Amino acid sequence: GKAADGGGAGGLVVPEIKFTKLFINGEFVDAASGKTFETRDPRTGDVLAHIAEADKADVDLAVKAAREAFEHGKWPRMSGYERSRVMNKLADLVEQHADELAALDGADAGKLLTLGKIIDMPAAAQMLRYYAGAADKIHGESLRVAGKYQGYTLREPIGVVGVIIPWNFPTMMFFLKVSPALAAGCTIVVKPAEQTPLSALYYAHLAKLAGVPDGVINVVPGFGPTAGAALSSHMDVDSVSRVAFTGSAEIGRAIMESAARSNLKNVSLELGGKSPMIVFDDADVDMAVSLSSLAVFFNKGEICVAGSRVYVQEGIYDEFVKKAVEAAKNWKVGDPFDAATNMGPQVDKVQFERVLKYIEIGKNEGATLLTGGKPTGDKGYYIEPTIFVDVKSMQEEMTIAQEEIFGPVMSLMKFKTVEEAIEKANCTKYGLAAGIVTKNLNIANMVSRSVRAGTVWVNCYFAFDPDAPFGGYKMSGFGRDQGMVAMDKYLQVKTVITAVPDSPW
Ligand code: ADP
Repeated sequence: GKAADGGGAGGLVVPEIKFTKLFINGEFVDAASGKTFETRDPRTGDVLAHIAEADKADVDLAVKAAREAFEHGKWPRMSGYERSRVMNKLADLVEQHADELAALDGADAGKLLTLGKIIDMPAAAQMLRYYAGAADKIHGESLRVAGKYQGYTLREPIGVVGVIIPWNFPTMMFFLKVSPALAAGCTIVVKPAEQTPLSALYYAHLAKLAGVPDGVINVVPGFGPTAGAALSSHMDVDSVSRVAFTGSAEIGRAIMESAARSNLKNVSLELGGKSPMIVFDDADVDMAVSLSSLAVFFNKGEICVAGSRVYVQEGIYDEFVKKAVEAAKNWKVGDPFDAATNMGPQVDKVQFERVLKYIEIGKNEGATLLTGGKPTGDKGYYIEPTIFVDVKSMQEEMTIAQEEIFGPVMSLMKFKTVEEAIEKANCTKYGLAAGIVTKNLNIANMVSRSVRAGTVWVNCYFAFDPDAPFGGYKMSGFGRDQGMVAMDKYLQVKTVITAVPDSPW
């Protein structure tokens, strides 16, 4: 993969873009309407590419192809071992093209190129290989049924799976969903986010090279209310999974409603978070500060598990605040293709304005802005790492302590007792993740059990593993990704009972 210098973008490196059409039934095709939409480079706001825009007619074609591949194709019928070989080959191809793919996500989403190469791409390959390993270990149970019968269960692929993904981790989100679905023998229609369609189209191409049969993976870039809604309301889609963060709960409700109104398809939703980071007095302050800064500034705060509420115990609060401000000032904002950069631009103008709006709300509601709070750079969607103190998160709730900002904005709060920390940590509608920093084992264990969140990180953050189930409590969603438990979303259980009339037992 070569990266060409896109002189038009002011000397920035702009990767070559090879795939811009819909991928349906193994072919790149134009949208039925002939329409396209623009995907932009958040470093400049300039158009990167014109992408074929899927609407209902295209989603119908993609679902038809997926249905045909499921009902009559070989993918669900081949052995798990054969599927695993194809998946492993796809993992190899992802690795071989890692530099080019990291550059695509970098230019499309403003993500750091270096981290794309060493985190996103290897994680995608690892996810594929993890579930490739599961593909030949899908089995049911034998049942001791009362009377003269015997029984067993089969675990069968659920069928055609619709996947609607967001823009913050275009690669990891794609493989988080596609890998277990492939292992299960499902066929798939992916709608990538309209902000970041580039890498998903590339994966469609690689899947074909790896030997994934036509119709098994289809990719239909387009907008939520059109292409996304067509998928969730489709009569011939068996399961739909949507990951979304900053949207209102209304869209999640709309998807469940359209699933219910159409064919009662299985739904899983992963929504936002407002994850607490709880730092106790005994913590090493430097370590706690660097973990907390990473937790909220990593990927410009555009991460569902961002530790956006930081609760610090009173004994170290002042020192923590001072050092956190220093860390924020040292968190280098700039071109995500520059290896010295810690944080690139927000994904698009909408998110950029949304984050700035939340910063205004924070100021207006009486929180104290200690650092950051402004756009930076003369073009593009860059925002300074921002820290608020005097944030109220209980009696007088402040919006910035309740709503997901999805930007580099830390709300710092003080607490006295462990009980108070637990109560405050749990005082949002979300429950995706939580961080705890302490050397006290008893506190760590007690708080881990008491926090209502799907993942708890003790003395670490963002420690992900394909084998570690991930998902939300409360309004952060339902269903789990990763781990063997995620296979259940793509399989259904069939019970077979056979009469054994002559059994003497
Ligand atoms: P958020 O900002 O909450 O992450 P987005 O609006 O970016 O939400 O949506 C995440 C994904 O959900 C995208 O792929 C988007 O196109 C899709 N989406 C948005 N609205 C709908 C809808 N009404 N039905 C189905 N999918 C939708």
